[in-house]
Amino acid sequence: MTTRQHCVSRDATDPFRHHRDRFVLPEGLIYLDGNSLGALPRNVAGRVATTVAAEWGNALITSWNVHDWFDLPGRIGDRLARLVGAPAGTVIACDTISVNLFKLLGAALKLRPGRTTILSDTGNFPTDLYMVQGLVDFLGDGHRLRLAEPEDVVAAIDEDVAVLLLTEIDYRTARRHDMKTVTEKAHAKGALVIWDLAHSAGALPVGLTAANADFAVGCTYKYLNGGPGAPAFLFVRKDLQEEIRSPLSGWWGHASPFAFDLDYRPAAGITRQQCGTQAILAMAALDSALDVWEDVDLAALHRKAMELAQLFIERVESFGSSHGIRLAGPRQLEHRGSHVSFHCPQGYAVMQALIADGVIGDFRAPDMIRFGLTPLYLGYADIWDAAARLERIMAEQRWNRAEWLTRKAVT
Ligand SMILES: *Cc1c(COP(=O)(O)O)cnc(C)c1O
Repeated sequence: MTTRQHCVSRDATDPFRHHRDRFVLPEGLIYLDGNSLGALPRNVAGRVATTVAAEWGNALITSWNVHDWFDLPGRIGDRLARLVGAPAGTVIACDTISVNLFKLLGAALKLRPGRTTILSDTGNFPTDLYMVQGLVDFLGDGHRLRLAEPEDVVAAIDEDVAVLLLTEIDYRTARRHDMKTVTEKAHAKGALVIWDLAHSAGALPVGLTAANADFAVGCTYKYLNGGPGAPAFLFVRKDLQEEIRSPLSGWWGHASPFAFDLDYRPAAGITRQQCGTQAILAMAALDSALDVWEDVDLAALHRKAMELAQLFIERVESFGSSHGIRLAGPRQLEHRGSHVSFHCPQGYAVMQALIADGVIGDFRAPDMIRFGLTPLYLGYADIWDAAARLERIMAEQRWNRAEWLTRKAVT
């Protein structure tokens, strides 16, 4: 794809070329931030309107039964399970990644009494580390968080590690941990592993069962397009489900919530990982957003994502080095997820200029411009055009405007 015309031809035969019609996207915009907030699937608004008007409005509280609101987190969990390579009954949609991490980490530590270390890496998303720090402080019993560089984290697993907590795809550099190998190494030392799939689910095939993973968390507002603040999910391998309890033992995780017993008894299976009443309107939006994925072959999706990444990296590198722009993360595509970041001097201002020019990506401190490549609604020509607009902005120094040199709250 050495010319724009090649990209246009490639788009014409792309098996995903009709998927874009399943999304609402403003005309002319190139949206490269679906790894942060996925685009709006076309069928979501109708489903949410029905849930509001017909279910909440008309059926009122009977909807918990007649419209199966109460089982929605589990039903959505089963749909998500297919996307992360796990069997039905091992995933549930609920809460946020941060909260789900607290629940699983608290439960997992109980399975490894005597071990004091929670191991993670310096590339992890800060909320994951903050949640560990909060739990360790709360427990006050000698547990500690230890961090290694991502390349060294496997070698750092020793017999004191109770839990290894890693994000499969680095949120900044897209560097990918080998889930199967790392899990095996951790198990060999007697440690449990919690995988964070925030930048994996909906981006590439995830094999939780194939990797014999213990626990996982993930969110649905990124590649899965569930909407701003959409419910997250968690996974617990079948044989561990009855062995653990959630430290957030709310009534939705009780064996018989409507018996109103005074004592907590955990529900069977994955259900015990629920805490309290879930946001049903958000669940309805997520449930309909997942319709988009029913016929998606994740291996083919990932192949296209890698082609888009290859094209984008090539195009940006064709002019980038003279402006100090440099690829972040590994060069080999099989060691990457499907977003692409570049170190870029004045990256924040550059991204603001790009957004003003109709290409939305984002900025991640300290110096990275980041682009999510979502094959369901992006074509090859989009990628070509985005790189061309970045080239023009750099050549003309269009980023150099006072109002772009100070950062807004969300970058
Ligand atoms: C986006 C993201 C989160 C977000 O956590 P929430 O609690 O759902 O806001 C967590 N971890 C990683 C790796 C992320 O990329």
